[in-house]
Amino acid sequence: MAQEDVFKKLVAHCKEYGYVFPSSEIYDGLSAVYDYGQYGVELKNNIKKYWWDSMVLLNENIVGIDSAIFMHPTIWKASGHVDAFNDPLIDNKDSKKRYRADVLIEEHIAKFEDKISKEVEKARERFGDAFDENKFRATNQRVLANQQKIDEINARYSKAMNATDLNELRQIILDNEIVCPISGTRNWTEVRQFNLMFATEMGSTSEGASKVYLRPETAQGIFVNFLNVQKTGRMKIPFGIAQIGKAFRNEIVARQFIFRMREFEQMEMQFFVQPGTELDWFRHWKGVRMRWHTALGYGDDNYRFHDHTKLAHYANAATDIEFRFPFGFKEVEGIHSRTDFDLKQHQNYSGKKMQYFDPEKGESYIPYVIETSIGVDRMFLHIVSAALREEELKKEDGTSDTRTVMRLPSFLAPVKLAVMPLIKKDGLPEIAEKIVHDLRFDFNCQYDDKDSIGRRYRRQDAIGTPYCITIDHQTLDDSSVTIRYRDSMEQERVKISQLKDIIAEKVSIASLLKKL
Ligand code: ATP
Repeated sequence: MAQEDVFKKLVAHCKEYGYVFPSSEIYDGLSAVYDYGQYGVELKNNIKKYWWDSMVLLNENIVGIDSAIFMHPTIWKASGHVDAFNDPLIDNKDSKKRYRADVLIEEHIAKFEDKISKEVEKARERFGDAFDENKFRATNQRVLANQQKIDEINARYSKAMNATDLNELRQIILDNEIVCPISGTRNWTEVRQFNLMFATEMGSTSEGASKVYLRPETAQGIFVNFLNVQKTGRMKIPFGIAQIGKAFRNEIVARQFIFRMREFEQMEMQFFVQPGTELDWFRHWKGVRMRWHTALGYGDDNYRFHDHTKLAHYANAATDIEFRFPFGFKEVEGIHSRTDFDLKQHQNYSGKKMQYFDPEKGESYIPYVIETSIGVDRMFLHIVSAALREEELKKEDGTSDTRTVMRLPSFLAPVKLAVMPLIKKDGLPEIAEKIVHDLRFDFNCQYDDKDSIGRRYRRQDAIGTPYCITIDHQTLDDSSVTIRYRDSMEQERVKISQLKDIIAEKVSIASLLKKL
């Protein structure tokens, strides 16, 4: 199936099965804003718990906070967001569509990268075991020509972005004959800067309302509370502060479902370290965060680091963890070595000292910071796109059938087990209800007695329920039930009294956290 169709199916599936709905749908929706349905919210909460526990439970030197969305407007002046949180936008005069100039250029570069990858793959097939990828990349004429093109564009592009040279960005688009994907023309407007922060008014106008912003990241709430936490928690460097919360960005081009939203949620951790040790900690957090992703079991090949060559002026190292989405490798998480930029800025703007007294060194300094920042919604998209499969099933009579299944890690699944009486009589429903009644204190359980057992299994497969329990006539004799496993579809006969222990072991977050 074409990747585009795979993605369309995923969006439709999320809607049909109560995962994600377009916001304000009865009013034709609101662009780039989404609501999570009854299963979506459970998956989202489980993702947040996986992140939170991996930070706050597993590290005795990391604590959490929950800061307000509204903050003093000067914070955004100090952080640089008022002056520099801009995207360069460009319009195509024929299609009237708006684009980010930087994204147009990056996508153009990605096309050359794709060409190189295809050459490499072709050669790998041709040469088999004898293939030496490094040598091939260094000598093949077509690869070299494409690489030269990438390097040329990249050099101009980095320079233009660093100097905020909007004319040059436009010129790069023109010189490379980049066309609008809709109209196919090169009829572009000038490039303009567009600030991504949403602003609103606080207080009544008669008192003189002041402009406040909806935070575009949660990190600043951590920076301004750095000393509150350090002092009240008697934290010693190195230590971290974690936070999960909403962020808002007036994205110019909001596409690809919940990949880029205007209201979204972030999970951020700022790790405060001694100046000079930050690059070691940066490497440490790169490793830790990659393991957090790969522990989910979706294949190490589907992740990669993308180290930044263009660094923001306050960073001395930065990388993205990218996941292979149906539309290609894209960022899910950023890891940045932010130096002492933010704390220093807040010290300058607030006039309050943001220093830490280091008892071991016997001196005060502004700590350096490593940040790990991941979007909950983007992680959600990563998980459902990795989990959702259409599988062909061979039947005993030689014919085949298909099933749609969400292969979610058991801990993340919204419903852990469905309990089903084989038929709706002979006392079977009562036994099923009692099992649900007893187990609902421990797990999210669902009772289901509608339709044939096969259809009920399919329904649970589609929402990702890892275990189905079926009550049949044998249950009346020996208190045993069948447990059916979503992924293998195998069935096993177990005692009702064993269920709690069997399921608890399989769905516990501990087994996931122990992999880290
Ligand atoms: P991008 O380059 O995709 O715009 P970014 O580099 O601006 O992202 P950061 O500011 O580093 O992103 O934000 C950290 C994380 O927050 C991202 O890795 C992503 O998971 C998430 N995120 C950022 N913007 C959005 C958005 N508009 N919608 C959903 N998630 C987002």
